[in-house]
Amino acid sequence: MASERRRAKALEVRRITGRRLTARERWIAVLRKFTRGLEEPGSKRYWAPEFETASRSRIREIQEEKLAAMLPYLYEQSPFYRAKFRAAGLTPGDIRSLDDLVKFPITTKQEMTADVQTHRPWGTYTPIDDRVWRDSGWMVFSTSGTTATPRPFRYTQLDRELWAITSARSMYAMGIRAGDLGLTCTTYNPHVFFWSVHYGWNLMRVGIVPGGVPTERRVVMIDLYRPTVIAATPSYALHLANAMREAGYDPARSSIKRLVCAGEPASGIAATRRRIEQTWNAAFHDVYGCTEAVPAGWAFTCEDALKEEPVSTHVPEDLQIWETVDPRTFEPVPRGARGLTVVTNLNSEGSPQLRFLIGDFTVLDYDRCACGRTLARARGGFVGRADDMLNVRGLTLFPSAIEEIVRGFDVLADEFQIVLETEGVMDMLTIVAETREQISGIEADELRARLIGEISRRCELRPRVELVPAGTLPKTEFKAKRVLDRRKIL
Ligand SMILES: [Zn+2]
Repeated sequence: MASERRRAKALEVRRITGRRLTARERWIAVLRKFTRGLEEPGSKRYWAPEFETASRSRIREIQEEKLAAMLPYLYEQSPFYRAKFRAAGLTPGDIRSLDDLVKFPITTKQEMTADVQTHRPWGTYTPIDDRVWRDSGWMVFSTSGTTATPRPFRYTQLDRELWAITSARSMYAMGIRAGDLGLTCTTYNPHVFFWSVHYGWNLMRVGIVPGGVPTERRVVMIDLYRPTVIAATPSYALHLANAMREAGYDPARSSIKRLVCAGEPASGIAATRRRIEQTWNAAFHDVYGCTEAVPAGWAFTCEDALKEEPVSTHVPEDLQIWETVDPRTFEPVPRGARGLTVVTNLNSEGSPQLRFLIGDFTVLDYDRCACGRTLARARGGFVGRADDMLNVRGLTLFPSAIEEIVRGFDVLADEFQIVLETEGVMDMLTIVAETREQISGIEADELRARLIGEISRRCELRPRVELVPAGTLPKTEFKAKRVLDRRKIL
């Protein structure tokens, strides 16, 4: 079917222009076809009802139509993907349906890193060459790894347009509307989240107060300009609230009605979510995505999701194909089972990645949400990136599990650290946590015992706990760095 449609389209163009469309032109025509008329909300509840409430069979049809145009584009323009196709003995024509997709091997960050080390500075894992970049380039985003080679992604002017629409879609689902005023807590660094929020708000006619630096200035801006929405990382949302209190304001009585957060797992950590909601007396929404596979407006929490426990996150399936795979074999896990996230991006000129392993654990749920959206949901959000997983004394430990426990203690402040050291031949786990107020020796002993008990029970690891006064640990201004792994390699 898809190839017939492609042939018909090519014949149509040949009839008009006398030549065949290139794979790139065909892909761009498809991207435009699916974004026409989406510059404003389609209804009171949905920005793009045609896609957000499409039947499951329609979603599949859209994905297959997009896939049929995307694969030849990627094959022709990306040497990295062409090599992967060849190594697997495949051509784009071998993947005609979603069922065929699993024939293509998973794409990993490590493969991309190796590619960029050989082909500096851009690598060949995107279909953007120097000519396209010169003619229609917009912005370079890069992964933030400090130890590994950063992987850059060149996004185009068309991507910027797609970004605005898809981000608006997600934020509309959170209840953000024209007339809201947004404060962005960023210095506009190369972080895809803040730029997509910015362009989304532009399209939605949501005014923007660029937060700038330092935090004290943002505190004054909240008091003076009365923004209704904040975009920040979850850690920073807590840090900003503390700064407000120190300056004599109460965040719970501020103008803020909603927070849009990204950059750290938060929806999946109920205690952190509750703490942010209570601190700000506002709805806490968070989004999930990666630098490699955008613009797709991220996975997002809708307004109804916040009424459930655990909170679920919608994945934008008309824009991306989402899979969950076994962490060892990379084979798809059965429906309803926990697996690592894999995404195929069907909404990008600059980076339409194929079966890219993002690598967070989740469970995908295909039941219709109370909000009416048919897009699948990541049940319980995304709780931990496999890369962050720690092996302590042979046991698996997610930093998010410690966060869940620490944030469940109201007497503890927002910062904490997970310190791993070697003692003899043993791994030693120490949790350093700040108490909100000075506490006496007996109270501290009791608190330490309760924390040790809770961590031992839930993580099967007995830690040491060190309690320090609030303000001792470094404050998180952006993404939190809470794990200090000082273990010796024995
Ligand atoms: Zn929903």
